[in-house]
Amino acid sequence: MFTTIRLFDSSPYESNFTAKVLFVGEDHIILDRTLFYPLSGNQDFDSGIINNVDVTSTYVDVGEENLNKLDFNAPIKHYLNTSSFTVGQNVEGSIDFEKRWQTMRLHSASHIVEYLLSQHPDFMSVEGSFVNHEKDRSDYKLSNNLTPDGLAVLEEKVNEFILSDQDISCTISGKLRFWQCANISMLCCGTHVKKTKEIGQVKLSRKNKGKNVNRIEIRLLS
Ligand SMILES: [Zn+2]
Repeated sequence: MFTTIRLFDSSPYESNFTAKVLFVGEDHIILDRTLFYPLSGNQDFDSGIINNVDVTSTYVDVGEENLNKLDFNAPIKHYLNTSSFTVGQNVEGSIDFEKRWQTMRLHSASHIVEYLLSQHPDFMSVEGSFVNHEKDRSDYKLSNNLTPDGLAVLEEKVNEFILSDQDISCTISGKLRFWQCANISMLCCGTHVKKTKEIGQVKLSRKNKGKNVNRIEIRLLS
């Protein structure tokens, strides 16, 4: 079994890296280390190139049913045209940092929305979420659906929190990884910005998914 070192955990702001090829399959390669975030933890995969070959997607090799389970030692599969790669070869990789940065900002904003909503008396549960570079969408079960006024109040609170410029950090405890900001701690394996102000101001919108599930979408304003 191969292991891929997760460079994006320690260096989320880096965009270039070197690595060694451990395995070459028909449609993917496995590297000894990578900056490519794989689809997992409700966060989309990074785009980019390895030795100038486009990477079409990146997945953790834990099986479809375990995609949201964090395994720090799992191999990461980079899907691409493998014809120019050989085992043992040293390669240069580069991720699309603009997309990564937008995803980090949206994902960090999602934590703040979740925290503020979880303090509301109507909060019941988080039903799911997904973030890419365009938007974060998260489904919240609430005992009373969020009204337009309620959404406006939430948006104001989120933007106030962002402007307060709190530090964001991630800590690993055993097999768990935590997002930490101010006095808030949440389980997470995604990538984040270092300071809330870097997120910039955000716009929230709401969709009614039925059965008291409120889908809240976050978009960046800049
Ligand atoms: Zn996170």
